[in-house]
Amino acid sequence: MNSRTIYAISLQRSMPLLVLWLLWTVAAEAATPNVVASIRPLQLLAAAITDGVSTPQLVMEPGQDPHHLSLRPSERQQLQQADIVLWVGPILEQPLEKVIAGLQIPVITAQLASGVTLLHSGTVADPHLWLDTRNARSIATALLQVLQKRDSEHALRYQANMTRFVAQLDALDTEIDLMLQPLQSQPWAVNHQAFGYFAAQHKLQQAFALTDSTNSTPGLQRLQTLRQQIAARHVKCLLTEPGENHQQLDTMIDGKKLNIVTADVLGTTLMPAADAYVQLLRQVAMAVKHCMGDNND
Ligand SMILES: [Zn+2]
Repeated sequence: MNSRTIYAISLQRSMPLLVLWLLWTVAAEAATPNVVASIRPLQLLAAAITDGVSTPQLVMEPGQDPHHLSLRPSERQQLQQADIVLWVGPILEQPLEKVIAGLQIPVITAQLASGVTLLHSGTVADPHLWLDTRNARSIATALLQVLQKRDSEHALRYQANMTRFVAQLDALDTEIDLMLQPLQSQPWAVNHQAFGYFAAQHKLQQAFALTDSTNSTPGLQRLQTLRQQIAARHVKCLLTEPGENHQQLDTMIDGKKLNIVTADVLGTTLMPAADAYVQLLRQVAMAVKHCMGDNND
């Protein structure tokens, strides 16, 4: 009898156990809900709550502008395979609205979550609501409630993750306030007005912006206005985002004396992990400090 035969016999004997084990695994997997987030920052936020249980999936592909999403077939499919969907809402990912409305699963619409405060410029709501950690707490709470209901087996784990996340955010708020407090009176400019929530929470000046919070293409008038504001207020810092062309910007606004620094408000380089959302905010804060702080000449 060779070893292969022995293996085959022992496999045969353990078959009922194997079947039981497989059934158990399938049942356990079915119980773990598949959380799908529309954009990276919400995926990172969700990862703080699902840590140790599951990894949230992401709809938006890298390099896509969330302000101008077009729903691809693969993204539609991902939404349809979700057990829980987390998105900002029609103020940002409007093209997803119809598909999401047709889903028969729990959907968390961040802009409507209890406790979330929206900033407006005129009648337009600023969609970058994840850059205020107070909103992050409210969105996480909404997700926690849905997760605990849908997956009671892991309810305690989700709760423990939430407790840890809130403690992380408390520490982060203090850290960023300390970091940026000396810069509260500094004027600054941004390419795209994505920093309204961040500025409001940390009592910074509202930045002059080339494009508004919806990221529509600026006209010549807007460019002219920004140039004047930069000169009149002696702005020394211009914050951009990954993918925006520094050189082109520099030429447009003739920014020879400007610090041009990139801040990744979408967390494009971060992978989902328990502390990834905190890292996103810390990176933004450090970019702001670097941009505003290193210009005493
Ligand atoms: Zn934006």
